[in-house]
Amino acid sequence: MKKEITLKNEKIKYILKQSRRARRMRLAVYSGGSFVVTIPHGMGLKKAENFILQKAEWVLEKIKIMVRKEPNGIFQRRSRKEYLKLKSAAYTLAENKVKEFNKFYGFKYNRIAIRNQKTRWGSCSEKGNLNYNYKILLLPEKYADYIIVHEICHLKELNHSQKFWDLVGKTIPEHKKITKELRGL
Ligand SMILES: [Zn+2]
Repeated sequence: MKKEITLKNEKIKYILKQSRRARRMRLAVYSGGSFVVTIPHGMGLKKAENFILQKAEWVLEKIKIMVRKEPNGIFQRRSRKEYLKLKSAAYTLAENKVKEFNKFYGFKYNRIAIRNQKTRWGSCSEKGNLNYNYKILLLPEKYADYIIVHEICHLKELNHSQKFWDLVGKTIPEHKKITKELRGL
């Protein structure tokens, strides 16, 4: 269950898990900064929240450390199971967005595919195939838009020349800022 709690004015997202085997509450922060709270079956949310509040300092410190450990958290912490679950929704998103942005560009493409890659958001092949990482579904929309457009523009310019970036800039004027932010996710 996805939850959110405010710790020292910071909104922190966490996953709440109920476990029949857990005798006590458990807090864990994983690389990339994802925060998981396990509670014994039948324990109320209020009690869980109070416990997290008591440990606020520890939680915030730990998240800071774990995020730093793995700046590419969003790439690493996902599983194959999640990929299979989200693949078709990611395809629909990519297909709709390619259609939308390609109304402007009007480039010819072959097909769209969704992939589960650890280090790339997308790619474009010489044959005109557009490949996107399923995790575009998990990104804020402005990042997904940029990734979609980036690969569309490779249909015309299969490089990162000034011409290429000018094409990208026609629909995503703030692409420089977005690229930088994406690296920090
Ligand atoms: Zn590129």
